[in-house]
Amino acid sequence: KYESQPYNHILKIRKQNFSPFISTYFQKPLLLQQGYMQWLFDYEGRRYLDLFSGIVTVGVGHCHPKVTAAAQKQLGRLWHTSPAFIHPAIHEYAEKLTALLPEPLKVIFFTNSGSEANDMAMLMARSFSQNVDIISFRGAYHGCSPYTLGLTSVGAIKPRIASGSSCQTTMCPDVFRGPWGGSQCRDSLVQTIRKCNCTPGCCKAKDQYIEEFKNTLHTVVAKEIAGFFAEPIQGVNGVVQYPKGFLKEAFQMVRERGGVCIADEVQTGFGRLGTHFWGFQSHGILPDIVTMAKGIANGFPMSAVVTTPEIADAFTKHLNHFNTFAGNPLAGVIGSAVLDAIKEDGLQENSQETGSYMLLKLAKLRDEFEIVGDVRGKGLMMGIEMVQDQDSRQPLSLKEVNLIHEDCKDMGLIVGRGGLFNQTFRIAPPMCITKQEADFAVEVFHAALSRHMEKRAKGVV
Ligand code: PMP
Repeated sequence: KYESQPYNHILKIRKQNFSPFISTYFQKPLLLQQGYMQWLFDYEGRRYLDLFSGIVTVGVGHCHPKVTAAAQKQLGRLWHTSPAFIHPAIHEYAEKLTALLPEPLKVIFFTNSGSEANDMAMLMARSFSQNVDIISFRGAYHGCSPYTLGLTSVGAIKPRIASGSSCQTTMCPDVFRGPWGGSQCRDSLVQTIRKCNCTPGCCKAKDQYIEEFKNTLHTVVAKEIAGFFAEPIQGVNGVVQYPKGFLKEAFQMVRERGGVCIADEVQTGFGRLGTHFWGFQSHGILPDIVTMAKGIANGFPMSAVVTTPEIADAFTKHLNHFNTFAGNPLAGVIGSAVLDAIKEDGLQENSQETGSYMLLKLAKLRDEFEIVGDVRGKGLMMGIEMVQDQDSRQPLSLKEVNLIHEDCKDMGLIVGRGGLFNQTFRIAPPMCITKQEADFAVEVFHAALSRHMEKRAKGVV
């Protein structure tokens, strides 16, 4: 029971022996026991629909039977070898994964986490271009290692210790919270059916953000840069989508200044956006380097960097990169089983179908509740941005967002959070979620919002 000794004992350990930063999300943190596909079970046996997949990671479902079976089989054979020994699993996997990427993105480097993959991409950009400055968006999350912390620019994460020098952040082209734009500017299903609520000059939003981007490029002393990192849709910053065509133009400007373009697919890759396997494809762009983690192995610690032979050569001339764990046989079979599951279970198609279905239903919440400022996203990556009211777009107070969040959890729904003010609910369930479960999720949101509005009306929040 939640009041029982084991629960309290675990909370005590958490408090005494864990980093004080790591949030437990809820007033009464969840103590989980088990997961199966899109469901999580706490140690009292309560069931929760998981709308966040362990931060957009468990793409094919918790303990997916085929992935688990593949891992178990390999666990009994060989876990680990030196990267210098040849084992078929990781080679076959490399062939399978690179086949999913367009030419000339064919050379793969294995790493163990998203931060490590982006560290490596930064080194690649600098060694290939022979420049130092790297640009990322304000609000971006690219990792928490000392090197990638220079790129990461999320309020709660920006460190007060020196790290990641020669990184510049540029204005995020956020058409909802930024100075320019309206919902019509981005590529989203909701916007195609919703009337434009543009601010004046909205349809020029892309050009205005591009001007800002140009200004950032001018601040770089040598006028030449090493690279530009972008998430195809920002995850941690609250599922932020850029104006249509922005990335295409930005990539061109970066290349004109000697830089390479990096797509951070840590959250958006592996079919999550539905229309495409990779997020960059939905922008009609071809990056020079692609980084991937999280969904790559459904929660097993693994990540990868894929680049062109030319960049790979330049990089390896500068660094004899070595990594003990990366690309071990276990990672190879798990990664491979994940790719099979995405294909065999039709998960990219389900992301498109169920994601679109859910997005349109969630969008209706905005019509009903004035504290729902924006509903956006693509495939099974969605955001609901909470505001004080739709006119001011001021973020809803943390206290109120927390209450709604907790209420959803109490009704059996696990939702993520993000955004500069932690004001956005993030939805990225395992890609096997059904329409029926999407209906349940929307009903829970509806009930939590209705209850909250009643409390507001009574002045008790
Ligand atoms: N890139 C993106 C887009 C991410 O969301 C994250 C993690 N939130 C990372 C990189 C870093 O990944 P990791 O936590 O595995 O280091």
